[in-house]
Amino acid sequence: MPTDRPTFAIVGAGLAGAKAAETLREEGFDGRLVLLGAEPERPYERPPLSKEYLRGEAEREQAYVHRTSFYAEQDIELRVSELAVDLDPGRKELTLDGDERLAYDGLLLTTGAIPRRLGIPGSELAGIHYLRTLDDSDALRARLDAGGRLVVVGAGWIGCEVAASARQRGLEVTVIAPHSVPLGRVLGTEVGEIYRDIHRDHGVEMLLGTAVASFEGAGSVERVRTRDGRTIDCDAVVVGIGAAPRAGLAVAAGLSVGNGVHVDGRLEASVPGIFAAGDVANQLHPTLGRLRVEHWDNALHQGPAAARSMLGSTEAYARAPYFFSDQYDVGMEYSGHASDWDRVVFRGDPASREFIAFWLRDGRVLAGMNVNVWDVAEPIQALIGHPVDERRLADPDVPLEHAAVGEVRA
Ligand SMILES: Cc1cc2nc3c(=O)[nH]c(=O)nc-3n(C[C@H](O)[C@H](O)[C@H](O)COP(=O)(O)OP(=O)(O)OC[C@H]3O[C@@H](n4cnc5c(N)ncnc54)[C@H](O)[C@@H]3O)c2cc1C
Repeated sequence: MPTDRPTFAIVGAGLAGAKAAETLREEGFDGRLVLLGAEPERPYERPPLSKEYLRGEAEREQAYVHRTSFYAEQDIELRVSELAVDLDPGRKELTLDGDERLAYDGLLLTTGAIPRRLGIPGSELAGIHYLRTLDDSDALRARLDAGGRLVVVGAGWIGCEVAASARQRGLEVTVIAPHSVPLGRVLGTEVGEIYRDIHRDHGVEMLLGTAVASFEGAGSVERVRTRDGRTIDCDAVVVGIGAAPRAGLAVAAGLSVGNGVHVDGRLEASVPGIFAAGDVANQLHPTLGRLRVEHWDNALHQGPAAARSMLGSTEAYARAPYFFSDQYDVGMEYSGHASDWDRVVFRGDPASREFIAFWLRDGRVLAGMNVNVWDVAEPIQALIGHPVDERRLADPDVPLEHAAVGEVRA
């Protein structure tokens, strides 16, 4: 459709793409706005897919970012089941699946991430699930309805949440993972142990410190064999071993890519006029350095930030990373980013499963996680980067803001 209005294209109709489109209209962009999504669905949020939607406790409708009529009302050309297969930054042109060309004046990549797959003997058997899309969640939900034993491969957030949901649905669950504790990469051993115990207390068999060697079965998975020689009979498997950024378009177009599309503080890629946000973006964060995070909150806020940058804003995206997880009756929020800490400080007793954990380096807070303690994410975020008095930090009777040495940001 030839047009003299500028065209902004957004590739990836997930949370980041949908919020970016919304923001472009809110901020007055009145050009042509095309939102391309490979999935057959209008944009939706993924957190319920391993939690209440998977358990059959929430309606599908609750997952969508906007009501159906929103896109037409906002003159956003939402094109679902439409995969962008090539990007030519020189011509400022996208090629779509059916060979259609789409010229753009501004481009935002919000293509998200895709589950890493296991390539071991038996990987092709039926009954081995991955979880990223509504379709995936529907298929797994049907499997949970059938009961039996579920093996979860991987003890990251998705693996742990699926294990919890499956137990809540009454299945027998075995988790197999290579580290000594679940969630260890992010939380470390001390806090990971707490989550290990939570799962064990709920009857999950935690086979940690080992890996899956093969899946076996006649057509459908019936057994999992571990590298240390154990076999676990099962009715289905969920593999949750992390996700990789969907940066193929950017790679093919010659953009700077490495664990995601490299973007600057304003979320602009190495080619001017192209932006990236959400799970696919690897941002040069103003205080944290290069960072790619796969968090709902990041997609929610980076999409709009990228939209504002497309309209000329020079403001850097500076929010602290934040994510949440719900497993059984244990809810948590994690703020900040800790990859290399020298100390973990607890406020409250972890055994009570109502506590806050702080990750510190050189006496400064890198990250904090509140578990079943609510309305504290903001004060925790205000402490990030600050030197703290550890004794005051650990004392629940001292207001969090008084744990800092010196003034904290408002
Ligand atoms: C099961 C599950 C549970 C989660 N739970 C939590 C949670 O509890 N807390 C939390 O903080 N985070 C959670 N997350 C992470 C959170 O959902 C993601 O960070 C968020 O979805 C990222 O949004 P996005 O828009 O960047 O990418 P996505 O949601 O992945 O959307 C990207 C979209 O782009 C489409 N696409 C890709 N390539 C193309 C192309 N070439 N052409 C057209 N379309 C394309 C994809 O099909 C996809 O629909 C969870 C994720 C999953 C999978």
